[in-house]
Amino acid sequence: MSHATPSVTLVGAGPTGALLAILLRRRGFRVVVFEARPDPRRHPEESGRSINLALAARGIRALEQVEVLDALRSGLVRMRGRCVHERDGRTAMQPYGTRADEAIYSISRAALGRLLLDVATAEYGVDVRFEHRLETIDWRSGHAVIRDSAGHRIEVPMRPLIACDGAGSRVRRCLADTHRIDAREEELEHGYKELSIPASAGGAAALPREALHVWPRGDHMLIALPNDDGSFTATLFLRRRGSPSFESLADERAVAQFFDAGFPDVAPLMPRRAAEWRDRPVGFLGTVRAAPWHHRDQVVLVGDAAHAVVPFHGQGMNCCFEDCLALDGCIGAHRDWESRFKAFYAQRKPNADAIAAMSLENYEEMRAKVVDRRFQVQSALAHELERRLPDRFIPRYSMVMFHPEIPYRVAETRGRVQARLLAELTAHASSLADVDLDAAQRVVEAGLAPVAQDLSSVTNV
Ligand SMILES: Cc1cc2nc3c(=O)[nH]c(=O)nc-3n(C[C@H](O)[C@H](O)[C@H](O)COP(=O)(O)OP(=O)(O)OC[C@H]3O[C@@H](n4cnc5c(N)ncnc54)[C@H](O)[C@@H]3O)c2cc1C
Repeated sequence: MSHATPSVTLVGAGPTGALLAILLRRRGFRVVVFEARPDPRRHPEESGRSINLALAARGIRALEQVEVLDALRSGLVRMRGRCVHERDGRTAMQPYGTRADEAIYSISRAALGRLLLDVATAEYGVDVRFEHRLETIDWRSGHAVIRDSAGHRIEVPMRPLIACDGAGSRVRRCLADTHRIDAREEELEHGYKELSIPASAGGAAALPREALHVWPRGDHMLIALPNDDGSFTATLFLRRRGSPSFESLADERAVAQFFDAGFPDVAPLMPRRAAEWRDRPVGFLGTVRAAPWHHRDQVVLVGDAAHAVVPFHGQGMNCCFEDCLALDGCIGAHRDWESRFKAFYAQRKPNADAIAAMSLENYEEMRAKVVDRRFQVQSALAHELERRLPDRFIPRYSMVMFHPEIPYRVAETRGRVQARLLAELTAHASSLADVDLDAAQRVVEAGLAPVAQDLSSVTNV
């Protein structure tokens, strides 16, 4: 690579940084990534971060574009719906979509991270410097200040600096502290803790595998995603303070009582619960809102650094991957960095705001509404309307998870209209049989434009 090759500096080699590094190398840039942690391919994963993730169509599209999906396929576990576990032990499978191919996939965060890093470094020659932490930005000289593991201070010119340093982004804080952008971190009252549900000695799964399991308990919930070895990773979402809360469940007896009373069917499937409860930290959940995401042609925030969302729609990383494709497109379409960053922000900010709002709404849906009869009738009607009017009525969950051509903000706007129509059409119905489906179809045709009409003026990456 000649010295004349334009060079880009990234901070953070998480999913966003690793994928973006590949895309930038494909455009011919020299790419250096500074990553605070040690190389995850040589060091075991830190505990406390989510172990698996739900991968959906937006993320799949990005991974296909950089040709890494095939290498991941054997580790993907298909989830075709949500399996709801009621307090009395009854279960109900709620399919996510109407078509067989409408499923989401559980993927190991560590395996995905390792593969993206392997491809970035070995195939594309990205220079990743592990154990190099960005400390601050020297605005006067235009340098990022990095500290390596030996304590050496390194100054890197921001020509430009692309910050993929996650929800707690140091770069974002440097920009906000010096009033170059506005940024807020809105903490949710709920935190989370991960617990394991091992497979049997023979590898048999303790729960049906083709589902994302949910134990909705009103104010809190437990979920479990399947892993490719037959085990599940469960996550308890619970208030940090109050009763019940992570604070109030202070000793093993209280924790055992809480699980036996609220989750009697799954409690016996967690033999390591006591130790995991003790050893694993309570994770932070929140929404990051920033405006704008860039400063001149020097710095831009991408991924969680710009817009972390709560995980209840399973879209955080999927959205970050969409960001990477969008920024790559803006780089192709504009000649200078400031125009690229401005175009990227204009395209992505409304979509990031929309998925932030929908992710918060989905928490209530998952922890409370899924067991509500009205919600179930509305879901059944939404699927029936999609079967009858596939060009016009697509349930909001499906628009977000299975339709990457529909930007989040269009999904949110259409979803609001659809929610109103569904509420009106099911006002006096206690089951789908009570709804006059032909009349409902006419109401939708009159009240909701075809999807294509809303997409005619927008492009999504
Ligand atoms: C409980 C939970 C469940 C989730 N489930 C899902 C899901 O099912 N589906 C989904 O799509 N998303 C999910 N997410 C969201 C997803 O994890 C994030 O959106 C995604 O990890 C963001 O990627 P990122 O690379 O932008 O940030 P990160 O993954 O946070 O990576 C940032 C990287 O930057 C490095 N870094 C940080 N500071 C510095 C510094 N100062 N200097 C150098 N390097 C630094 C970090 O070490 C890290 O490697 C979930 C999140 C949580 C918390």
